[in-house]
Amino acid sequence: LTSREFHPGNTVVDVDGVKIGDGSFVTMAGPCSIEGLEQILECAKIAKAGGAKILRGGAFKPRTSPYAFQGLEEEGLKYIRQAADEFDLKVITEVMDEGHIEMVAEYSDILQIGARNMQNYKLLQSVGKTGKPIGLKRGIAGTIDEWLNAAEYIAVQDKSPVIFIERGIRTYETATRNTFDLSAVPLIKKLSHFPIIVDPSHGTGVWDLVTPMARAGVAAGADGMIVEIHPDPKNAWSDGQQSLNEENYLKMMQEVDILTAAM
Ligand code: PEP
Ligand code: MN
Repeated sequence: LTSREFHPGNTVVDVDGVKIGDGSFVTMAGPCSIEGLEQILECAKIAKAGGAKILRGGAFKPRTSPYAFQGLEEEGLKYIRQAADEFDLKVITEVMDEGHIEMVAEYSDILQIGARNMQNYKLLQSVGKTGKPIGLKRGIAGTIDEWLNAAEYIAVQDKSPVIFIERGIRTYETATRNTFDLSAVPLIKKLSHFPIIVDPSHGTGVWDLVTPMARAGVAAGADGMIVEIHPDPKNAWSDGQQSLNEENYLKMMQEVDILTAAM
């Protein structure tokens, strides 16, 4: 059901009026973690000023250490919904647990499945029943075939469309957080009718590599990107090292606009 053979045309995912996969380049921007109402409002304002259509931000965070900040949970969901509504943006946020799907779906327009859960098949089946678009991150060591099969678990429920998110994979390279696999963009486009966006933030883990890889994503034919921004990256509660400040984000978006117009 995920394959192009099954559906030769492109599936355009309608996120409450924002279309992904229709030939435009849609940006989702926001902090790694929702830290409070003021912070997410500031992020929404910046995101909107750059031309993003969707606000990102985690309320349930899959942290490597159990002692690291785990997210504001439902309080955070309320804040991101409020901030998005104030700036006429849609919301994407991660759901980690089957038991939280209903709650997250109440506040979010897209349900994000994180890299660590790409092969959590029960979770995939359950989010697939919601009817909400699912942003499916590529697993940390996920092959293209495993990723397509994960999408199939969602598609077989026949309710929710999938948006693939290339966020880099683990290789022997340690100079970047992950190895950003740009070839996944044309490859997924060849193999599936669902849209694919890039995540140059987790794909590199280094803020000054984000803009070049965002430009590369446009050139590769991605349907959009998801990018981490923060009003004060140095003091971000998570992933500050890969977050763009306002100035760098706005500059990146100008470049992306020039490239998309030329494509
Ligand atoms: C995130 O988007 O903040 C995140 C945790 O991403 P990933 O699942 O790709 O690591
Ligand atoms: Mn992050």
